[in-house]
Amino acid sequence: MRSVLQPQKLISVDAAPKRGGRLMRVRFWGTRGSIATPGPSTNYFGGNTSCVELTTANGDLLIFDCGTGAHRLAAELMAQGKKAIHSNILLGHTHWDHIQGFPFFSPAFVKVNTAAIYGPEGSRGSLHDVLAGQMEYTYFPVELDQLPAAITYHDLTEGIHTIGGARVATQFLNHPAMTVGYRVEADGVAVVYLVDHEPFSDELWRAGAEPGRIESILHEGDRRHATFMADADLVIHDAQYTPEEYRLKKTWGHSTYDYVVQIAAAAGVRRVALTHHDPSHDDHVIADIERKARTLALKCGTGLEVFCAYEGCELVLEPHATLKPFVTADPFQASVARRRFHIVVVDDQPDTLTMVVRALEDEQYTVSTATSGQEALRMIDEQKPDLVVLDYKMSGMDGLAVMKTLRAKPETQSLPVLMLTAMTDEPSTRAGFDAGVTDYVTKPFSIPQLTARVRACLARTHPL
Ligand SMILES: [Zn+2]
Ligand SMILES: [Zn+2]
Repeated sequence: MRSVLQPQKLISVDAAPKRGGRLMRVRFWGTRGSIATPGPSTNYFGGNTSCVELTTANGDLLIFDCGTGAHRLAAELMAQGKKAIHSNILLGHTHWDHIQGFPFFSPAFVKVNTAAIYGPEGSRGSLHDVLAGQMEYTYFPVELDQLPAAITYHDLTEGIHTIGGARVATQFLNHPAMTVGYRVEADGVAVVYLVDHEPFSDELWRAGAEPGRIESILHEGDRRHATFMADADLVIHDAQYTPEEYRLKKTWGHSTYDYVVQIAAAAGVRRVALTHHDPSHDDHVIADIERKARTLALKCGTGLEVFCAYEGCELVLEPHATLKPFVTADPFQASVARRRFHIVVVDDQPDTLTMVVRALEDEQYTVSTATSGQEALRMIDEQKPDLVVLDYKMSGMDGLAVMKTLRAKPETQSLPVLMLTAMTDEPSTRAGFDAGVTDYVTKPFSIPQLTARVRACLARTHPL
């Protein structure tokens, strides 16, 4: 039984034939973040972790994430009685709540079936090895390579791919692990899956610019995020925390409804499904988030529809003639998994310096250090590193002055620089980007978040 809550009439379901019609369908099998939370208090929105099914008009099956929701999806696929099931599994990343359903994905136990699994490269092992890890004998009776279905593994970086008959773009998200978002374009429809992501900046808008437009977004990362979802018919987005909770959970890698609604409205998105609900949120809390998100969407005035995803929710998406495909200047980014990169870290605070160096060395980078702007410039000249991690506030020559010198010289004009700073305010962020930084990471940051941002920077700036 559904709970007594009836928070939504699904205004977003198109009037279209539900089954058999040649239209794209999206169905939610898992909407919970972090850990499965079954029970009466989560009965309405559901307790299973991330899993969304997308079927294109010509029958291509794409599955976003394989959390515990994948178990029931698998049962449904098996019950359809098809001769063979061909799944494309698109993992945003390999944290437990996104892969734990895979060992229970029954089509993988049938020989005639195939599964193509996609996920971001850059975890400590290949996608195959990470998935094999959770199926080691200690944890599960059947090992990954014993599964009878034909399974292929595809480690992705940013780029445009073809999966089944769909055009699929990938872009890195801001999460304490390498995580990609997916934009699927097929049947005249764009569906974007952006789960496990947090804002790049506390301030969304550039001061003095008209809010509500992509060009007015302050941080380059948030602007890229908005561009990636631009004009989509459906965006499925992480909205795990309320704004109040987020203040205490920065760097945990999750968003709030107000960030999602504002950025989606600016990007001209048609509808948003908020998902990856927090395990501590019961149905009433999520219904309240939905009410607030809808009020905010109305205020934005772009016609954006928003709802909180629930298990069993199904959408049929009609094509629209004006779909603009996502374009990017660099259709394929570099694979950075195998090269050993050299990074110069510049900071006048010994504690931060030691922490950053240790983290980068753990990730197999070659690291040099400088404790002042002048020393950094000399070192960069001599050693020609692949990336610089640069502190903003240093005694003597500060990070901005270093940037000015670097950008004035042809040899270092496009050298990637990640600015690491406690300066979270709008003028400082703006000054950093105006000075030409590639990325701007604010303290407090977590080590996994920093190393994911370093890797994304390298992938974007070092051609294949
Ligand atoms: Zn997650
Ligand atoms: Zn995660």
